[in-house]
Amino acid sequence: MNKRVILKKGRDFSVIHRHPWIYSGAIYRVVGGPGPGDLVWVLDFKNEPLGWGWYSPASQIRVRMVSFDPNEKYHEEAIFNRIRQAYNARLEQKFAIESNAYRIINSEGDDIPGLIVDRYLDYLVCQFLSVGAHIRQEFIISCLKELMHPLGIYERSDVEVRYKEGLEPCRGELYKKVPNRVKIREKDVFFLVDLKNGHKTGFYLDQRENRYFLRKISKGKKVLNCFSYTGGFGIHALKKGALEVCNIDRSIHALDILKENLELNSIPRDNTQIIRENVFKVLDLYYREKNFFDIIILDPPKFVKNTSQLKNGLRGYKKINTRAINILRPGGYLMTFSCSGLVDKSTFKKIIINSAIDSCRDIKVIKELSMGVDHPYPLGFSSAMYLKGLVLQVV
Ligand code: SAH
Repeated sequence: MNKRVILKKGRDFSVIHRHPWIYSGAIYRVVGGPGPGDLVWVLDFKNEPLGWGWYSPASQIRVRMVSFDPNEKYHEEAIFNRIRQAYNARLEQKFAIESNAYRIINSEGDDIPGLIVDRYLDYLVCQFLSVGAHIRQEFIISCLKELMHPLGIYERSDVEVRYKEGLEPCRGELYKKVPNRVKIREKDVFFLVDLKNGHKTGFYLDQRENRYFLRKISKGKKVLNCFSYTGGFGIHALKKGALEVCNIDRSIHALDILKENLELNSIPRDNTQIIRENVFKVLDLYYREKNFFDIIILDPPKFVKNTSQLKNGLRGYKKINTRAINILRPGGYLMTFSCSGLVDKSTFKKIIINSAIDSCRDIKVIKELSMGVDHPYPLGFSSAMYLKGLVLQVV
């Protein structure tokens, strides 16, 4: 126990409640001079061990807990076991997942902080977002190879948060060759995924089960799919008998793949609209034109990336939700999301309440949505539940 972090009096509360992050302000003393990513024991003010984690001297999040069990001996085997457990859990959940693309390791949710591993057929795409995960890259890759025998592994750590850990964003092949694009399946729908240049690791795997929900209400409906990306929600809706789907996104690259995805699923183009435009503008236009819909999906990008964006971000959510509610037919559904971790569920609900008041419509909550089963989060770490969704119906 030579490298250790001793917490200030009373600051063990969140660790005891299984919050996996220890901020620099909670630390009383650091002993043994741990370096970036080093394993450290975490002790309370009376020197009682609380568990162990990875040290990150560059970050405000100074320690990320890997084990809350002071009796769990640290050795690399511990990480191997966590990867195996996570993988087995996903195999067990395959009837909920019904896809050959899913998340195998979800960072803190699988007790490997900062590590994301997504599976696309037999290829793995990884993100190493903490210095602890980063310095163990070689070992982690060897575990993935031993357990899953992938055909190739690609790194998509090309994200800004790496700077906070003292790391540069980077990407590239980690094992064998990985194709630029793969064809994945969700139930009976196929999608092309650009593993090397697509968003995140290529696809919004976290929305899979919400796309599955949309299928159940799509038959015969006129659907507006805002922030469509490569067509995820829209193509599921068309496959289950939606009358027409209008997709809006501002990314040419995403819309080009959307067109290919329509073809891939033999969906005729005559009941599909593809509009490259700012969603805010189109919603205003449809409001003026009185262009009404039975179902509207609002799945915007993260409007609030840091606290300085909070005010504007909340205004953005309010605006699109008000407009969307304005152009729903009576009995119509709104599936609305926020993936901003800094906007909690109750704040998000309050925004929607205000949108409903502004648009003078009576609204019921039909269902609350979140990420799918392959995106677990620790019970004591609710801010990791970043994706919040509501299915609302206009009465
Ligand atoms: N629903 C999608 C994921 C949406 S991601 C799925 O299930 O796959 C958010 C998308 O919004 C991105 O494709 C991005 O290009 C697009 N986007 C961001 N801001 C936009 C804006 N103001 N107008 C139109 N599209 C926007």
